[in-house]
Formats: sequence, structure tokens, C-alpha cells
Amino acid sequence: MRFVVDAMLGKVAIWLRLAGYDTLYSGTLDDDDALVISAEEDRILLTADEELHQRAVERDLPTMLVRGSVDEKVAAVFHKFQISAIIDPSKARCSKCNGKLRRINTEQKEEIRDLVHENTYECYDTFWLCGDCHSVFFQGGYWENIRKYMHRITSMIEKLSKP
Ligand SMILES: [Zn+2]
Repeated sequence: MRFVVDAMLGKVAIWLRLAGYDTLYSGTLDDDDALVISAEEDRILLTADEELHQRAVERDLPTMLVRGSVDEKVAAVFHKFQISAIIDPSKARCSKCNGKLRRINTEQKEEIRDLVHENTYECYDTFWLCGDCHSVFFQGGYWENIRKYMHRITSMIEKLSKP
């Protein structure tokens, strides 16, 4: 299951990537390109634009019209495609560019020395390096926020699942 996400759904794209799904997103992607990419790469088109959604439906492309607040959007997409709101860094993709992440253990740590803050380098032993944009991820303080947010999304999904 892969996605292409319209320019209005950047936050949804980030959470799909973190959940491990190959998700194309660009703030400058236009409607025609989105339709072509969806068809050629067999990607589900997520859009907040009713007209674009309709065009995708007419072309028989897999698509979902995504509306509401950011939280509602994330919960609706996860619910519809039965994605569990759990972020496992060993499965996640780069939230910035959709690249694949590689785990960096203590033995390879030297590789990322120049890419992170000195303190971060000293404090953590496990990192994930994006092969494309060289962003480095680690389970720092923000990780707790990710966990809490996914918890909130999980309870929203549970509500959506009730008849
Ligand atoms: Zn990246």
C-alpha cells in the first residue's frame, strides 16, 4: 500500500511515513501530476479537494477525500486503511523526504557524528539515518510526543470503528 498525498495534507503525509508507508508528498504537486502518479505508480491518492477526488474516481483510481482537522484527517486515513497508530522506528520512513531509514548502532555511530549535535551524539547509542536526505532520527524527548499523539489517534480510531 503506497500513497500520493496532495499539497494540503502535509501532516497526514508525515504520519504515514512515520508509520512506515511509502508516501509521496510535495507542497508543489499539482492535480494533474497527482493523478498521473497515482495511476502509474499504483498509489492511493489522498486529497482534501473534492474536485480532484472526483477526477480520480472517474479514472477508477484508488482515492480518499480527507476532510476535518489535522487529527481527524490522520485518524480517518489510518482507520480507512487499517493502519495501526504505532510508530516503530525500524519500520518508519524519513518524515522529511520519504527515504528509507537505516539503523545505526553503537559500532557505526561514527558515521553520523557530523550530522547531529555533540550532546545528542553522546547521549544516544541508536540512531536511524535517512539514506536520501541524511536526516538523523533518534528516540529523544520528542519521541514521547509522538507516542502521546499516536495514543490520541488510536482512541479516535476506536470511536470511528464503533457503529
Ligand atoms: Zn530523508
